[in-house]
Amino acid sequence: MDEFFETLSMLAVYGLFGWGIYHIWIKPMVDYERLLQYKDYVEKHPNTLTRSGVKCMHCGSQSIKSWGKNNAGDKNRIHICNKCGEKLYRTKL
Ligand SMILES: [Zn+2]
Repeated sequence: MDEFFETLSMLAVYGLFGWGIYHIWIKPMVDYERLLQYKDYVEKHPNTLTRSGVKCMHCGSQSIKSWGKNNAGDKNRIHICNKCGEKLYRTKL
């Protein structure tokens, strides 16, 4: 019976470990890959194109911030609406 609980606690530890890895490494990566690229965003949501750039497809705000994927200087940029906080599209510098 001891072995059973040992195995069970091992599984719990591995499970927790896997969950941590997933949320820290994999999920942000998948979220990033799932974001539309700029040209796809504009193509899919042509009504977001304005004379001075693009606007948010959710709330229409033209205030969009550009964040680095992993840090401020990252060449992979994520563009996030300043008003509603939705991630809109990604670009690569
Ligand atoms: Zn918005």
